[in-house]
Amino acid sequence: MPWKDKNRRREYMRKWRAENRAWWLNYRPKQYEASRRWRRNNKEKRLAWLREWMEKNRKILTEKHRSWIAANPQARRRIWNRWYRANVETWNLAVKNRRLKRVGVVSKSDWESIKAKYDNRCAYCKLPDQKLTQDHFIPLAKGGLHTPENIVPACQSCNSRKRDTPGVLFIHKIDPEP
Ligand SMILES: [Zn+2]
Repeated sequence: MPWKDKNRRREYMRKWRAENRAWWLNYRPKQYEASRRWRRNNKEKRLAWLREWMEKNRKILTEKHRSWIAANPQARRRIWNRWYRANVETWNLAVKNRRLKRVGVVSKSDWESIKAKYDNRCAYCKLPDQKLTQDHFIPLAKGGLHTPENIVPACQSCNSRKRDTPGVLFIHKIDPEP
């Protein structure tokens, strides 16, 4: 089989392109333009498809991402620097909030009185006798602070379903802004 031979295949393609040079030069930009036009006209469709695909392949993507970072530390650094320059304030707020969380402004007795205030029930589904976790009513990612005023008891199920949705939006099942 000649096609199994990589070098012979490459040689054949090179010959074919040389013989059909005029057509090739004419066809390539047209094809490029057509696919560009399609992409532009189907932005929503493409985004939805991409999102779905990423969701399905999340594990593989995370792995790939990790190994790419390990293999390209300099490129990673460059990309990070560019993001940092454009998002200094977001980053500083996140650092501040992380620091506050580490110091721990919510004491054990704070947490006990918070739970008592909610009758030892989950603040969202109101079910008692759950293993209660500390939930930031306004998520730290949205600028909420690790203070007793911003902590409510939540069962593990509600806490994991809520993720980074602010409490008000979660209770009323409103979609958070992107
Ligand atoms: Zn709950």
